Amino acid sequence: MLEYVQGEGGVVALDKEYIDAVCEMCGQRDILVIADEVQTGAGRTGKVLAGEHYGRKADITTLAKGIAGGVPMGACLFGEKVENVLTPGTHGSTFGGNPIACAGGNAVFAKLNSEGFLDGVNEKAEYIRKRLAECSEVECVSGLGLMIGITLKTKNAPDVVKKALENGLLILTAKEKVRLLPPLNIDGKELERGMDILIDILED
Ligand SMILES: *Cc1c(COP(=O)(O)O)cnc(C)c1O
Repeated sequence: MLEYVQGEGGVVALDKEYIDAVCEMCGQRDILVIADEVQTGAGRTGKVLAGEHYGRKADITTLAKGIAGGVPMGACLFGEKVENVLTPGTHGSTFGGNPIACAGGNAVFAKLNSEGFLDGVNEKAEYIRKRLAECSEVECVSGLGLMIGITLKTKNAPDVVKKALENGLLILTAKEKVRLLPPLNIDGKELERGMDILIDILED
């Protein structure tokens, strides 16, 4: 079981060679590969599933968080190898496919599949990376799409998160990094304002 881009683990996008080696080894030994796309799925990395960046379809893919736009929902996708293992009724879930959650899920996926939406996600990601590349306090930037980790040169990530909150910007940490997970539908003006707040704190 793996995350293509580790979230809590420090926003680390795994190397394609590593994923290929894991999948090949599992294939040879008839071991299933489960991709945890709870954080990376539903457009977060600029593709519907992060596995697309790696040319991979896992045997089982887990999804939650963004899939219903904040309405509590979790989902499991089953590949051909396991499609008949769980039959209706064998996998109950408190917050599974109820009509309200599914309406949320349908709204999110209609947006994700709409013309140009994911291109917009990638453009926003590029904008953030460009702003960070110009900032003297930034050592390096990790992650994929709108899942971004920032290694700082001198400042401490929890202090930056605290100052950001005081200035009206909600961000996170992941290990020693600052982590950004902006809404995929954030508009250009809001994104610019958020980055202005962050850069001001970093360069203070
Ligand atoms: C949030 C998160 C989870 C937990 O998902 P639940 O649906 O709350 O169990 C699991 N994996 C990753 C990568 C997450 O980001």
